[in-house]
Amino acid sequence: MKTITTVLELQNLIRSYMDNGRTVGFAPTMGALHNGHMALMNASAAENDITVCSIFVNPTQFNESSDLEKYPRTLDKDQKLLKNNKVDIVFAPHTTEVYPEDLDTTLSIDFNGLDSEMEGEFRPGHFAGVAQVVKRLVDIVTPDNLYMGQKDFQQFSIIQYMLNHIDSKTKLRVVPIIRESNGLAMSSRNMRLSASMKETAKEIYKVLKYVKRNKYRENARNLESYAMQRLAKTDGFKPEYFTIADGYTLQKIDRVKDSEYAVACTAVWAEGVRLIDNIILRKPRKMDIFVK
Ligand code: AMP
Repeated sequence: MKTITTVLELQNLIRSYMDNGRTVGFAPTMGALHNGHMALMNASAAENDITVCSIFVNPTQFNESSDLEKYPRTLDKDQKLLKNNKVDIVFAPHTTEVYPEDLDTTLSIDFNGLDSEMEGEFRPGHFAGVAQVVKRLVDIVTPDNLYMGQKDFQQFSIIQYMLNHIDSKTKLRVVPIIRESNGLAMSSRNMRLSASMKETAKEIYKVLKYVKRNKYRENARNLESYAMQRLAKTDGFKPEYFTIADGYTLQKIDRVKDSEYAVACTAVWAEGVRLIDNIILRKPRKMDIFVK
């Protein structure tokens, strides 16, 4: 495994692999890696000859500077983990490599409303930053396949839209959510939770599963208000939203049975940490972006 910090060196190495007909899978991350990230690496290693993982805490996607400052940075530990998980190249660039002064990397894509609901409502500018960094990294790495987690449902939906919009040759592959044994979705931010809150936080997945079990029994507004109330009643939780949406448009739907692709997404504050999670309520059989 090689760790590379400059764009030039990375591109030379990747070009040498691609010139030899090797396929490249790429998983962008912000580090503080856990088994959720490793699922992306494993999916990439299974489907490509070469796996590249980037570790870059992207300043342009943080709408609160305190969140950016508090974001965990554990590069040495991350490198050890990646080495044991079939990763060939770690790209750990400095901010000036990703955003050189003489390069305009801002994007002006209209995401057709995908970026305005849910996370978009509570984290203004977040998705503009995410799209900017993923586009820049994909331009650098030129992967055959791009690996992202279902954990960030709105994020991968927006990136899929962007790849289509720019007619990219890179294919998006989405990896299912990896959870702790109690059901809490793994996240780098979980390290900031106390042990007792990590236990309490399993309630989020329980509520998501309840909603899935009852998706055809109640209309979406009733399910959302039940979920919000149950989360608000949980000790130490401050739910921000619980939304049942169409999986293609991310707009709210009234009844799950009216959408062939439907998802429930939520964000909950606990001990000053913002936890997000989701569950797919319905998925069309022929959707090929999801890794099995
Ligand atoms: P992050 O480092 O938080 O930006 O995440 C990097 C990638 O890992 C994103 O595509 C996330 O969706 C994915 N990811 C994070 N946590 C999980 C998880 N628990 N299960 C699956 N994928 C995840």
